[in-house]
Amino acid sequence: MPKGAEDLPGEILESATGLLVDLCTMSSASGDHEGIRQVASRVAAELARRGLSAEVGTESDENNEPQPVLIACGPKAGDHYLLLVGHMDTVLDAAPPRIEGGRLIATGALDMKGGLAMFVGALDLLAHRGQQAPADLMLVAVPDEEVGGAIAERAVRRWAADARALLVIEPGEARNGGETLVAGRRGLAEWRLDVTGRASHSGLAYWQGRSALAAAADWSAQAQRMSEPGPGPTVNVARLVAGDTDFVNGLAAHFALLGTSRRRNVISERALAEGEVRFLSRADGERIVDRLERLTETLAEHYDVKMVFARGISVPPVDPHGPGAPIVERVVGLAAARGWQLEVEEDRGGISFPNYVPDPSKVPIVDGLGPVGDGMHTREEYLDLASFERRIVLLADLLATL
Ligand SMILES: [Zn+2]
Repeated sequence: MPKGAEDLPGEILESATGLLVDLCTMSSASGDHEGIRQVASRVAAELARRGLSAEVGTESDENNEPQPVLIACGPKAGDHYLLLVGHMDTVLDAAPPRIEGGRLIATGALDMKGGLAMFVGALDLLAHRGQQAPADLMLVAVPDEEVGGAIAERAVRRWAADARALLVIEPGEARNGGETLVAGRRGLAEWRLDVTGRASHSGLAYWQGRSALAAAADWSAQAQRMSEPGPGPTVNVARLVAGDTDFVNGLAAHFALLGTSRRRNVISERALAEGEVRFLSRADGERIVDRLERLTETLAEHYDVKMVFARGISVPPVDPHGPGAPIVERVVGLAAARGWQLEVEEDRGGISFPNYVPDPSKVPIVDGLGPVGDGMHTREEYLDLASFERRIVLLADLLATL
């Protein structure tokens, strides 16, 4: 018996596992709105049976296709509520689930039907103990997380703004024989650098030219070197195009120049670089963008070229030491009290639900509460059933304190 498992009655585990197998049998790849609606209806029915008011609504995605969205509320979910967020879609369509050696091998078992079934199991465990789930609880499950869809983003923007806390029931990670919880997530800011120099003949008038390419390449190398290891911010120069103006401005029409001798005798007049910075705190993000702006001024002067640095879209980070930190600490303590160890991920890359919160510095956020496994998005995807068991107890313990 795994640690912590003695705290979950067998019939609750069996029913949660049964529900999970059923959900995994339903094929619900992103875009398969019939399949996703089946999953939504089943989870809604289970939640309604447990006293939540659950509804499967319809929202239009970016292609104007109607998609199901599940919203379930406790009796007192008013203007301010405890928000749980998850998704019902999978990357692959379903294959018949099977249980082997403590694993449920099935599409979506880990990512993240396991989290949905865990929530239902936790409600059962609370009821079994005679405890109440928070009356202001609200679950929102979206149909398009795996494709970075508009509904997922919109739902978090809308519902998280007034949440007193956001719990994301996506899976944690199996790591060094242990399991993780996600406390921090990097944000990003896109940028673009435009450089204009002066063209001249490289043989006849080399010193009259001002190379946009040299300036942009130097800028790129220095920008990239601003990246700090560990929790510090990073800069990625994703694209750098330079050459004569026609080449850069009309790349599609002029790419055939590459590999030929043509126009190699022209000092490069135009350069364009594009990339992003990633950071764990807003302050880090501001600091690195400031440095890029200063670098731009310095090199424009040094190379005697025109350099314009522009910020693009940005996504806020979830600071691991922000308002979610006390809840993360509490969750770690609750796991420890049940005899197992949770490692905290302070620095998870990749954009996900928490980044869509309008201001993550104002809402306590805990991510990765769901059970762990491996092989996400592959035919080998599996859920560790011992983790499933532990996490049902953990979520019940947590909900009892919120
Ligand atoms: Zn997921």
